[in-house]
Amino acid sequence: MGIDAAYQKCINPDCGARFDCGQVLFKCPSCGELLDAQYDWDRVEVPGKLSDFGRRWADRDNRLDFSGVWRFRELLDFCDDKYKVTIGEGQTILQQNDAVAKYADMKPGCLYLQYEGLNPSGSFKDNGMAAAFSHAKLVGATSSACASTGNTSASVALYAHSCGLKATVFIGSGRVAFGKLSQGMDYGAQTIQIVGDFDDCMRQVQDVCTKLGLYLLNSLNPFRLEGQKTIMYRIIEGLGWELPDWIVVPGGNLGNSSAFGKAFYELKQLGLIKRIPRMAIINATGADTLADLVNNKKLAWNAGRVGQAIIDDYYADLTARNFSPHTCASAIEISRPVNLKKCLRAIDICNGVVRAVTDEEILDAKAVIGKYGLGCEPASAATIAGLRHLRAEGVISADERVACVLTGHPLKDPNITVNYHKEKLGKFSNPPIEAPNDLDEIIKLIR
Ligand SMILES: [Zn+2]
Repeated sequence: MGIDAAYQKCINPDCGARFDCGQVLFKCPSCGELLDAQYDWDRVEVPGKLSDFGRRWADRDNRLDFSGVWRFRELLDFCDDKYKVTIGEGQTILQQNDAVAKYADMKPGCLYLQYEGLNPSGSFKDNGMAAAFSHAKLVGATSSACASTGNTSASVALYAHSCGLKATVFIGSGRVAFGKLSQGMDYGAQTIQIVGDFDDCMRQVQDVCTKLGLYLLNSLNPFRLEGQKTIMYRIIEGLGWELPDWIVVPGGNLGNSSAFGKAFYELKQLGLIKRIPRMAIINATGADTLADLVNNKKLAWNAGRVGQAIIDDYYADLTARNFSPHTCASAIEISRPVNLKKCLRAIDICNGVVRAVTDEEILDAKAVIGKYGLGCEPASAATIAGLRHLRAEGVISADERVACVLTGHPLKDPNITVNYHKEKLGKFSNPPIEAPNDLDEIIKLIR
């Protein structure tokens, strides 16, 4: 058993404090930095090769083998199997898509789309919640809370009622896409709309959780990121246990990019992969803290000694300007990303790059993914818009193998989609045509 081999560890190399997995901590109590789940790998029985995990598909009666998260459980084994929560997450598709490849100026056969919108609540968040709610069960939590741009609240609400916890979700008023808001209410969570944006919600929920002892499910929860690592395992699985050259991911709170970097670092450490793919993280221009800090202010991981003064100055300036992020991609409308430092570490691990794309680019890319693929929510389309930038710059070659992570389902944000098409906002708008209630007139319109 590897469970005793798991622990929580502060990411600050000058602190490095360790804590038992049975403790509920949002940040390092010694220095205030983020915590990781870590493993003493010598004491974990990890399969000798990645394809061994694939055999578990044959045993779909076993609920943990059926889960696209727990199928890889030795790589995130922080609790006993009896605590592991699953509602069938991670049954996702890696689709090779040549039409979208053409739009992104990639050669046929080189572009893959990872559809995380196929999860039970319609977004990648379910990967993280399967893990985090398992930790909540381990520590005996009865109530949970999160701040959310929408997808998190939907996922928290679904997992909470599935495993018998109460849930309270905090959202910014008027900032949450309709599909996501509807899910939280439908799944029975208490929804509190705060007059403010996501960053305001994030500050409030941390204080509420501390004061009332609620289990916090935001992405600073280290166990959520453990679940999100499995998205990378499934991409490798979808490629026949081969590695892509690039992973492209939207950048909001930076939990995914952080988790992906950690996943690859650990696989390499375990000898399960020979090289680490590069990663591109794509911001929206209206919420481009990461792109600005990395590309303009030269903020870097620097072996864990991150330039805190650069971050402090940047955030002080945001506050002084009363800055609030704005993008149609509400899932990444975040200007103070919780996992910033872990993301810097992932950029270091993956030789990563960061770019920002406009809302117009996002909406056009979204329409292309909808027309030729299975569709996605706006934030997900930032990947294809960003890939176009990186192709134009020559950073990514047309014949490299690229996997874009499409984080959410198209029905998450129907208003944006309807508006784009009806109001003819972009090159790919496909508006409905008004017709009289007359057969001949209707037939004339059919193309
Ligand atoms: Zn610390």
